[in-house]
Amino acid sequence: MSELYDYIIAGAGAAGLSLAYHLIEAGLHEQRILLLDRAPKTANDRTWCFWEVGEGPFERVVFRKWNQIWFHGEGISRRLEIAPYAYKMIRGLDFYAFMNRWVAEQPNITVRYGEISHIVEREGGVEVGLEGQTFRGRWAFSSLYQPPPRNPRYHYLLQHFKGWVVKTPGTVFDTEAATFMDFRVAQQGAVRFAYVLPFDAQTALVEYTLFSPELLAPEAYDAGLREYLEGILGLGSYEILESEFGIIPMTDAPFPRRQSAHIINIGMAGGRTKASTGYTFRRILKESRRIAQALRQTGQPFYPEPAFNRHAFMDSVLLNVLEKERSPGKQVFSDLFRKNPPERVLRFLDEETGLLQDLQIMASVDIPAFVEATLEVIGRRLGRREPGRVAPRRG
Ligand SMILES: Cc1cc2nc3c(=O)[nH]c(=O)nc-3n(C[C@H](O)[C@H](O)[C@H](O)COP(=O)(O)OP(=O)(O)OC[C@H]3O[C@@H](n4cnc5c(N)ncnc54)[C@H](O)[C@@H]3O)c2cc1C
Repeated sequence: MSELYDYIIAGAGAAGLSLAYHLIEAGLHEQRILLLDRAPKTANDRTWCFWEVGEGPFERVVFRKWNQIWFHGEGISRRLEIAPYAYKMIRGLDFYAFMNRWVAEQPNITVRYGEISHIVEREGGVEVGLEGQTFRGRWAFSSLYQPPPRNPRYHYLLQHFKGWVVKTPGTVFDTEAATFMDFRVAQQGAVRFAYVLPFDAQTALVEYTLFSPELLAPEAYDAGLREYLEGILGLGSYEILESEFGIIPMTDAPFPRRQSAHIINIGMAGGRTKASTGYTFRRILKESRRIAQALRQTGQPFYPEPAFNRHAFMDSVLLNVLEKERSPGKQVFSDLFRKNPPERVLRFLDEETGLLQDLQIMASVDIPAFVEATLEVIGRRLGRREPGRVAPRRG
């Protein structure tokens, strides 16, 4: 006999846990919710940074927040006020621990651990398998990530990064401001930057990050971190307390929101990662809130989305500029922060700007490079061959 639920949430990471939280917040206390993952999370496997106005749903687990950010790039090296935003940091483990305690207090949420073997449609609902057990539900929400199939219409970059939490003997870090992007690191033919999240004047998480199609050899990230800490920040000695490595796909390839009639993809698996920046966390929170509200109001998890998202189109153009090296990424991001108020850039990256602000943003970058990229993106979408590409000779 399989157990019966209203909502089965497959994957209890950021998106699954956030959805469970928002379902209860929306007043769905009567529905039976099943939360599935491989194992309870006991490691600090990631750090989420994002910007937000005022307090968010997980304010209690915000580890640090800053009202200013540093940007070091081409023709700009400034500490920027980001009001009305604050740049916030949540440690994975704090979030998981908070959510585990919260889930334990919810009588309508059941948690099971094990490897999910399948999620399939069954007679007006879903069936999910987990280590030989089967569960039936009205809806399934899956954050089990599948890379999208390669298609020449789209762009495929990776954001890959390694970070160390370092402790220094002296006071060196600016506790009032996080470093958002520091492009003083050698670019070596890719988009490379560092960022710094200071915990206190002696401790910070320092990340060495690339946007590029391929990963580096493991020792190259360590070399990049050392070059930044010693060569650019001028640290003589430091202790490495923790280490983090991550890969976030930066692609404009479509991720189906709906696997089938009753199986909905959420989180990174549902395409919530912003293609041009890799930021995902706050978009996951927005998605969870909208799904929960839709379920509450209509009984269905669907909410309206524009047929054409111009921000997603602009992401494709930026990916094209970076992939084709039409303008160095260091230059693009420096132009954005040099020629616009930071609040406008952050609002733009959050896809909350209006047309006028978008035009102001567009006017601040290398226009010929972006026009070429726009034409190529349109051509690729229409299925045209890339300009200048000669078809391979047959025979
Ligand atoms: C190191 C790192 C740092 C990041 N930092 C930021 C950041 O600063 N800001 C930002 O906005 N985004 C960031 N991201 C991107 C994004 O926010 C995170 O990846 C986020 O965790 C995505 O949430 P998710 O729920 O989609 O996936 P996950 O959090 O990965 O959750 C998926 C869950 O599914 C489970 N699962 C998968 N397969 C199975 C299976 N077969 N059976 C059972 N369970 C399964 C996994 O165990 C996992 O718990 C970061 C990503 C990484 C990797």
